[in-house]
Amino acid sequence: MKAAMVVGGGIAGLATAIGLRRVGWQVTVLERAAVLDDAGAGISVQANGMRALDVLGVGDAVRAVGAAQGAGGIRVPAGAWLSHLDAEAGARVLGSPVYSFLRADLHRALRSALPDGCLVTGVTVHHVVRKADAAEVCFSLAGSGDTSQTVDLVVAADGVHSRVRAQLFPDHPGAVYAGTTVVRGVTSVPVRTEVDIDQTWGHGAEFGSTRLPGGRVEWHSAANAGEGVRHGDPLAEVARRHGGWHAPIPALLDATEPGAVLQHDVYELRTPLPAYVADRVVLVGDAAHAMTPHLGQGASQALEDAVCLAAYLDSEPTIDAALVRYDRERRPRTQAVVGAARRTGRIGQQLQGRLAVALRNAGIRLTPSSAAVKAMVKYALWEPPTLG
Ligand code: FAD
Repeated sequence: MKAAMVVGGGIAGLATAIGLRRVGWQVTVLERAAVLDDAGAGISVQANGMRALDVLGVGDAVRAVGAAQGAGGIRVPAGAWLSHLDAEAGARVLGSPVYSFLRADLHRALRSALPDGCLVTGVTVHHVVRKADAAEVCFSLAGSGDTSQTVDLVVAADGVHSRVRAQLFPDHPGAVYAGTTVVRGVTSVPVRTEVDIDQTWGHGAEFGSTRLPGGRVEWHSAANAGEGVRHGDPLAEVARRHGGWHAPIPALLDATEPGAVLQHDVYELRTPLPAYVADRVVLVGDAAHAMTPHLGQGASQALEDAVCLAAYLDSEPTIDAALVRYDRERRPRTQAVVGAARRTGRIGQQLQGRLAVALRNAGIRLTPSSAAVKAMVKYALWEPPTLG
């Protein structure tokens, strides 16, 4: 049986482990964190990600802990709509609606698809050694010394600041700050919202909310800011920033516990990687193509990576042929999405000047909703390969 080690137990790592196991590989996932729950945050998975989850065999388990999203749209801070999203038309074309989750629930559903012992937490990978027809992973378990193991394939799923990527591509500049900081929270009680996916664009700032199972609501406040800038009380800062914005924004903030708020600066791989494969080491997820969250495609692209890697390892005559195909097929698509996410942010949340915002808003008002659906469809439309 062929053996793989996956570095990182995020969405990309867990999904890749599920996919590789489905095509008969023995897999171990090494995760640095001792506790995996990402409290206080939600995540939306687009139709392409949902289709990938179905191919991995976990679609139903995941849908059971998520909320299918219906109508949505974009508005201005006073509440007037700039555009409406015809979610039904989108879902018809794409084969699935968008689903939203508490991140912890999505992670748990993915972890449940792996057998005991497959995911090992509290393990930090230091480096990989490329060998002929194999790769060696060097790691340390919390509280004990360094050790290493040689396997047929190493999957680097170690996220936006990937150590493995930095080792494989020492001349690459790595992830850069995208100019946006995001504060996120989840209401502790259900709150009524007019639509399921609600986005409001101001000047260099955006407030978005998504309905979660049970009527609780996930919200985010994204704003242009210097890297690393922090406020003592991020919830109070968000309330100040969006003071006077339309309902139900104040109610969502009032229904959120200050301690359940997270803040993350956004990083992206602005310089595309020259390859996603180096001998028997392959990059997936944010390690390969970290993008800004403005298109909500990061996790869905990671899920596509997982399905494609497993399918090609299963169908191509050799591991090396499968990796060549993975690099050839995944790099152009994912790097196009990274660019599109950046451009979406620049004309959306990050746009700041009064005239520029006014012109943009006028343009959106004139765009028929079918054009908005087309933009959504462009990146969420994906035909998955079959597995097994
Ligand atoms: P990660 O989730 O970062 O996982 C990497 C894992 O590797 C971590 O668990 C880490 O602990 C582990 N690790 C790192 N280094 C080591 C090491 N040396 N040894 C062992 N383990 C290691 N995407 C969406 O699709 N929808 C959204 O709604 C959405 N919202 C977002 C909002 C924000 C504010 C941000 C910043 C991103 C958002 N994204 C969204 C992007 C999405 O979160 C990522 O694309 C996705 O989670 C990528 O998963 P990953 O597994 O590649 O990386």
